[in-house]
This record gives sequence, structure tokens and C-alpha cells, in this order.
Amino acid sequence: MKKIALDLSYDEWKKHIAETGEKSFRATQIFRALHRGLDFSEMTEIPKPFRDKLGESFYAQGATIIKTLKSADGTEKFLFGLQDKNVVEGVLMKYKYGYTLCVSTQVGCRMNCAFCASGLNGLVRNLSRGEILGEVIAVNRYLGGDVADKRKIINVVLMGSGEPLDNYDETVGFLRLVSEPEGINISQRNISLSTCGIVPKMYKLAEEGVSVNLTVSLHSPFDEERKRIMPIANTYTIGEILDACADYFDKTGRRYIFEYVLIKGENDTERHAERLIELLKNRPCHVNLIRLNEVKERALKGGTEKDAYRFLGLLTKGGLSATLRRKMGEDIDGACGQLRQRYIEETGN
Ligand code: SAH
Repeated sequence: MKKIALDLSYDEWKKHIAETGEKSFRATQIFRALHRGLDFSEMTEIPKPFRDKLGESFYAQGATIIKTLKSADGTEKFLFGLQDKNVVEGVLMKYKYGYTLCVSTQVGCRMNCAFCASGLNGLVRNLSRGEILGEVIAVNRYLGGDVADKRKIINVVLMGSGEPLDNYDETVGFLRLVSEPEGINISQRNISLSTCGIVPKMYKLAEEGVSVNLTVSLHSPFDEERKRIMPIANTYTIGEILDACADYFDKTGRRYIFEYVLIKGENDTERHAERLIELLKNRPCHVNLIRLNEVKERALKGGTEKDAYRFLGLLTKGGLSATLRRKMGEDIDGACGQLRQRYIEETGN
């Protein structure tokens, strides 16, 4: 069976090339060309017989763009095809300082949060490190970017479909690959990993020696209410999550972020704001409020922009560092898993 070339690290390519008896500099050429998004047929600096041989054993792409959707606000959504015909999605956001790409780490998701489209059909499978990287490389090439200083994507967020810490080894492998100096080389400091709060894996990540931003989807300051919207809350308490965040800060020196999706009447009242302030005040953290993108298969409703600013005001008045994320891409099924869900419905795949 063919392997995904992007699954291999630079060192693994060096080893592979040594085993084939080819000259060692070929490893650097191939690794770079793969991170530029080239197919083997386009790697013209490599002798054709060797290229052909590589093409027999490997797929050069980890993911290919099969559909793009542009939002009126400039956000662009991508549907990626994988070698086994599964699809995942990504979202590209343009900010003043450059592009941020949101990528998926799993096909579907096991977490089944009450507001999210990704978990509607459960987990199909994990993505490999090279498939996650393939999403970044495909979009970087689509934007006309190259490797190193010529890359177009500056930031990556692991906030697409899937729970990154439920696919731990491949996610960490991806973080190392994407920041490899010989490749696309996106700084780990510009990468945010978002988790629903899988506590033991948060501790493990702190020991990993990767310096990514840790983001935790909190969505409620009360354990009992959090259980209603996030089944994972039955396994780990908010107190345990906060301890794991404090450990992450101790080990990495990096501030952590809480995401909080505002759901009308469910988690956006004064009582919730007060408890959040109590829990988070004086911690080295930031709260990112997100207005719910309503998912038609899910019953929950979002509030108005005014409601969101009111909640934000309560948090900042209480001394928290907090912001309201601009609502982007609503017209293109911007929220996790929505586009894939639509694609599955339309194609029956
Ligand atoms: N599993 C990880 C990462 C994927 S979800 C996590 O839970 O953090 C990325 C973020 O998008 C999470 O904060 C999630 O709660 C949020 N999200 C999911 N569905 C949404 C929706 N319909 N509207 C707004 N935000 C949503």
C-alpha cells in the first residue's frame, strides 16, 4: 500500500534515502518539495526514474482541495479530500498580519458537544500527521506561498473537526513536522491547539517540548451545566482542567486561552459571568467569546451581538482579559463540521 510522503520527518527521509542508495542531498530536495506542495512529477530537479519510483511508493499530497467557498467577509472554507475518499474541512481567515488557517485533526469527532456539527456522526477515523500537514500545505500552495520566508500561512489553529488530544501522537507529530526548519517552518508559537479538556493529555503536552498556545473549550463555569453541553465534562471537572492549565503555564511559560461559545439562556447569564470571574481572575489566561454558529441539526440558539457585548462587558468589568471573536464565515457553514455534513448530505457519501 502507498504511504503518505508527508508522514515522514526530515530525519526519516534522510534514512529512507540512505537505504535506497541515492545521494543524501536528495532528502533535503524531496522534503522541501513536498512541503511546497509539489507532486513527484513536478520535482524536476530529481532524476525522472527516481521520481517515478517514489511515486510508486508514496502519495505526495496528504490532502487535496476538492472544493472552496468564499464568504462575503473574506473567510474562505476548504473541503479537503483524503486518499481513502473521506473528507475534512478547513477555514482560512485573513487578518492584517497575514493568513490564519484552521485545520481538522480527525474525520468526525467522538466528543459529541451539543452545539457542534463535527460529532453528529461520531468519529470515522484519525488523520495522520501528514494528512493534517497536507491541509496546511495545500492551502499555502493555493495562496501562491512557498516554504520558509515565502510561506503565506502565518498562523495555524487546530480548531477544525476533531479533538486534537484524542489523536495525540499524530497531532504532536504534526506540530513537529510543520515547524521543521527545512520545511514550511511555521513557528510553534503561532500555532494554537484547542481541546475540550482531556486532562491527562494536557499534562502530557506540557512535557512534550512543543511551545504551542493551549486553548481550552470551557463553555460553562459549572460542572453540572457543562455536562449538558459537553459529554467530556462527565470525565473531567473544571477544577481538574484549571490545574492542568496551571501546569501548562508552569512548564511552558505560555498563557492559556479559554473559548466560550455563547448559547442563549444556557451559559450567557450574569450568574455565569460571575462564576467565570471567580474561577479565572488572577490566572494568566484570556477568554475568547464566540457567538454560536447555529447548526440546523442541533437545537441550541445563539444570542444577539448585543447580548455578546453585554456578557463581554461583565467579564472585563470583573477584571478578566476577554475579547469577542469576530463572527466570520457564517454564510458558508463556517463552524466545525458544517461543510462536511452538508457535503455528506448532498453526495450521499
Ligand atoms: N475539539 C476541540 C477543537 C475543535 S472545536 C475543542 O473542543 O476545542 C473548535 C472550537 O469551535 C471549540 O471551541 C468549539 O467549541 C467551537 N465550536 C464548535 N461548534 C461551534 C458552533 N456551532 N458555533 C461556534 N463555535 C463552535
